[in-house]
Amino acid sequence: MSAIGRLAALLIQHSRPADAIKLLDFELSKAETGDLWSLWASAQGACGDLAQAERAYCRALELTPGHRQAITSLAALRWTQGRQEAPPPLSIGTSGEPSRDITAQQVALLASNGWIAEAHKAISSSRAIGGIDHAEALELEKILAANRREAPIANHQLFGVLDDSVVSSLQFSELSDPEEMKESFRQAVRWIEIETSSQCNRRCSYCPNHEYDRLRKNEFLDQQLYSRLLSDLREIDYNGWIKLVGNNEFFLHEENMGYLAEARKQLPSAQLQLFSNADVLTRKMLDRVSEHRLDRLLITLHTAPNQPYSDGDTLQRAHALAQKLGLTLLLRYFERDTQLGFTAVYRGISITIHNADFAKVGHDWATFFDERRHAPRLTPCSYPIRQLIFNYEGDSFMCCRTFKEAVPQTIEAGALTGHLGDSPSIFHLYANPAHLRWRRQLFTSAPKTGPCRECDGDEAHLIAAAQDFAQLRALWETKIRTE
Ligand code: SF4
Ligand code: SF4
Repeated sequence: MSAIGRLAALLIQHSRPADAIKLLDFELSKAETGDLWSLWASAQGACGDLAQAERAYCRALELTPGHRQAITSLAALRWTQGRQEAPPPLSIGTSGEPSRDITAQQVALLASNGWIAEAHKAISSSRAIGGIDHAEALELEKILAANRREAPIANHQLFGVLDDSVVSSLQFSELSDPEEMKESFRQAVRWIEIETSSQCNRRCSYCPNHEYDRLRKNEFLDQQLYSRLLSDLREIDYNGWIKLVGNNEFFLHEENMGYLAEARKQLPSAQLQLFSNADVLTRKMLDRVSEHRLDRLLITLHTAPNQPYSDGDTLQRAHALAQKLGLTLLLRYFERDTQLGFTAVYRGISITIHNADFAKVGHDWATFFDERRHAPRLTPCSYPIRQLIFNYEGDSFMCCRTFKEAVPQTIEAGALTGHLGDSPSIFHLYANPAHLRWRRQLFTSAPKTGPCRECDGDEAHLIAAAQDFAQLRALWETKIRTE
C-alpha cells in the first residue's frame, strides 16, 4: 500500500473517514488505482454511504480485476445488507457480471455443493466477457457435470468462493440444526491446525515460548479427543489441510508419529503438513513421515537467541541440513538481510527450508507479543471462516496467528473460542457463538479491533530482485565453496 493509502487507512481507523475521503479524492484526481478506490469505498462505508461504497468497489474491480480486498469487501457489504447476489463474489464485477477467470477448482467446488445453476451462470458469464474461451468453457462444463451434486440445499444463500472455500449465509447464522452446522463447516473449512504435543526445545526471542515456558516438560493432546476429532472429519471425507503444528517441535517425541499415522488412516483424502526447526530431524524420520504420505514439511532454521539474523549463516545451515538429509535445494526466494528460502522434494514430500529476520518481518502473534506498528487493517479476514486451530489441551482459537495457549492475553482478547471436549462435535465448535462473532466482525471492510486491528494477514511470496540473487551467489562462493 502507498504512503497515502496507509495514511488514509489510519484516518479511517481513527474515525476520520471524511478526512480520508478528502485525501483520497486528491490522490485519485492525479491517478486512479484499484487500491485507492477500494480505500475510498471503505471510507464511504465508514461514513454510512453504502451505495457510494458499492460503486467504488466496482470501480476498483474495473481497474484491477480480481482485486482481493474489493471482491471480499463487496461480498461482505452485500452480505451485511442481507442481499443475495448472483453471480457470486468469485465473479463480481461492475454490474454483477464476472470480472475475472473462473477456475476449474471453483467450478468443481460449486457443483459439488449443489450450486449448479450458479456454476453454469459463472461459466457462461465469464465466457461472454472473454475471461475464458469457448474450449475452456466446454472443459469447465465437463468438470461441472462430473462434480454435480443434486442434493437439496438447505435454506441458505451462496455468497461466493474464496480460494477453495464456499462462503454462504450458513457461516454467519446462528445454527441449531447439527446437519446445518456440518454443512457450514464442510463448505468452508480447509485448514485445521492441531498441536499434538506441547514441548519445544527452543525459546526463540520472537516467540511467546520465550515468555511462557514450553521447554521443561511435555504434554500430549488427549488421544480420545484427537480420535473423535478425526472421526468427525471422516464423516465429511475432509480433504483440506491438516497441519500438526503449534508452539511446539513435532520431531522431539516419537509418539507424534502415531498422531500423524492416525490422521492419514482416518482421512485418506486430507493433505498433511508438518513444521519443524530441524534440530533433531534425521533422514530416518523423513522416511517415516513419507510412509504416512506427508504432503508438506516447512523447516524454519531459527536464529539462536541473542544472535542477529544473517543470510550467510542461514545459507550455511541450509546447506548443512541438505547434506545431512540428502536433499537437493532449489532457491525459492531471497531478500537481502531479511529472508531466504529454498525448496526440495523428498519421496513425495514438498519441503521448504527457510529463515527470516523475525525481529524485522516476523510473526506478530496477533499483536500479543509485538511492539511493532503496522498499518490499520480494513480488509476482511477469511481465516475464522476457513480455519480451526487447536492446542495440545483441546482449546480452540480464532485463527492461526494467535498464541495457542489459554493465557490472559488470548482470553481477554476473545481469541480463545472454546474447547473440543465441551462440544458434541467439531461442527458444533465451529458454529459456536465465539467463532460466529469473529466471522461476523471480520468479514467486513470496517476498521478491525482487538488483536486484528493491525494484523497484516497473509503476505505474498517475495520475488528476489536480480541484485539479490547476485548477492546470494557471492555469499555462496564465500560461505560454502571456500569452507
Ligand atoms: S518459534 Fe518455533 S522453534 Fe522457536 S520457540 Fe517458538 S515454537 Fe519453538
Ligand atoms: S485479522 Fe489477523 S488476527 Fe484477526 S482473525 Fe484474521 S488473521 Fe487472525
